[in-house]
Amino acid sequence: MDIIRYGNPILRKKAEPVEEITDELRAFIHELIQMALHPNAVGIAAPQVGVSKAIFVIAPPLFEKGQIIKKEAKVYINPKLSNPSKETQTEEEGCLSVPGVRGNVTRPVSITVSAIDIHGNPFQETLTGYPARVLMHENDHINGVLFIDRLSPFDRKRLTPYLP
Ligand code: ZN
Repeated sequence: MDIIRYGNPILRKKAEPVEEITDELRAFIHELIQMALHPNAVGIAAPQVGVSKAIFVIAPPLFEKGQIIKKEAKVYINPKLSNPSKETQTEEEGCLSVPGVRGNVTRPVSITVSAIDIHGNPFQETLTGYPARVLMHENDHINGVLFIDRLSPFDRKRLTPYLP
């Protein structure tokens, strides 16, 4: 599967909810997991490979003393976000679909997500810090939003020449 780049209208569409988790869909999700586990990735959403469905995978690495000690993928189907913390944090983000561009994005520090897993089981969890940021970035893809839409006005101006 190839990564869809900025400029492709699929990245701007609101993704369709998943109605049924078929074997075919499960195979597709396993491919997404493999892509998310790639050392250069921290997550991937289905629209990024041209599939406009409400599915994403996050795999933020866990660091200890500058070394990655763990990188596990987690699947979210039909995610619904709630309870964003009032406290926000500004960090640099990039995106596989917007290669070569990184910029500062302000997001809530923590967020609650309800979703279903690859077996069709519903779950809810609250994420904080970097995993929460990755989750919100990937969830944006489901809604046709890219991190460049959320750049500070300064970074937006600075990066505009690099956006095709
Ligand atoms: Zn992205």
